[in-house]
Amino acid sequence: MDGNQVLMLGLAIEAPWKLVNQHLELSSSPNELVLEIEAERGSLYPCPTCSKACPAHDFKTLTWRHLNFFQHHCYIKANVPRTRCAEHGVKRVNVPWAREGSKFTLLFEQSVLVLAREMPVKACAEYVGIRDKRIWRIIKHYVSKALALMDLSALKAIGLDETAAKRGHNYVTVFIDMDRKDKPVVFATPGKGKETVKQFKSFLTEHQGQADNVLEVVCDMSPAFLSAIEEEFPNANVTVDWFHVVQLFTKALDEVRKVERKLQPHPKSLRWAVLKNADGSLTDKQKEALAELENSDLNTAIAWRIKEQLRWIRKAETAHAARWRLTYFINFAKTQLGDIEMLEPVRKALATVEKHADRILQRWSSTYTNARMEGLNSLFQAARARARGYRNTGTFMTMIFMIASPVSDLLKSI
Ligand SMILES: [Zn+2]
Repeated sequence: MDGNQVLMLGLAIEAPWKLVNQHLELSSSPNELVLEIEAERGSLYPCPTCSKACPAHDFKTLTWRHLNFFQHHCYIKANVPRTRCAEHGVKRVNVPWAREGSKFTLLFEQSVLVLAREMPVKACAEYVGIRDKRIWRIIKHYVSKALALMDLSALKAIGLDETAAKRGHNYVTVFIDMDRKDKPVVFATPGKGKETVKQFKSFLTEHQGQADNVLEVVCDMSPAFLSAIEEEFPNANVTVDWFHVVQLFTKALDEVRKVERKLQPHPKSLRWAVLKNADGSLTDKQKEALAELENSDLNTAIAWRIKEQLRWIRKAETAHAARWRLTYFINFAKTQLGDIEMLEPVRKALATVEKHADRILQRWSSTYTNARMEGLNSLFQAARARARGYRNTGTFMTMIFMIASPVSDLLKSI
């Protein structure tokens, strides 16, 4: 077996294509191995539309980046014909080693996908030595191909949440299958609110699912989501995710703290201390800050005590107990808030919770825990990090699919 035959075997090239030349370009850095491929003279080629064997009309030299040859970059160069089909006219044939329009071989693209599953795209781009924009193009192609194959016929419980690709910008709404323990994301779309729910419903219908089969939806208390769910998924029970209740009061508390801090001094290290659970992992400084806060007559202390009481509600063991605790909590909080103007954000949060009490209490009768919704947050963070350097709604969503949807399994079979 000579060198050419070894390389041909490695390339898995079959007739009419054969390797005719190879040379190592030493002037470029890193060095480039160029493999020239040609079809045998007088060959017939399949028309890309009907596969009928047709004569070549003309040729064009095309180049593809292939897997590295040891430490050298490797390129395949070939004269690719256009066929002249009696029925379909003149068309460029598809080569077996690359997909139409790509400047990379299939094997190269596969290796890019494997890398992109494990590291940020920017790092992946540096490693293989091509621009990250091109890597994104490859990933997007395969992700959308895999997405098209997704089967949602068994979907009956969904959770949805919105997040931003960049702080405060480029919102994306993500839908998860509450029955999937691993890789639960089934859909993501730019924007937040009503339209996103409609889009999910169309996607569901196009992927063998039925809106009427969706019996449970877990989400936050945004009126846009809630009204859209009622319209598009009429059979669904809505559970407000506990995580969002806590988030609501945490935000309100932070608003109060920011306003008050400008008017009077606050204990040091208070900012992060109040955002954490008081029984969670606090630094000594944070513990001191909370002790100081508890003994103060700051409005932030009132807002903090109210937020802290949420945990007591959550610990209720039955739906009945939870209802009793929630009612007690609302009344207790109202007394604490009085008519202090600075505490208006907390008053608003309280009104929202009062309005959605039934949906919040639903979690005690629902079979779905909110652990999965909480898990979404760390997933969003991971996706943001992977898309760093070239992050927009498109790349952010693509990365969410890559790391947290069944698409990543489908990619292996493409
Ligand atoms: Zn044809």
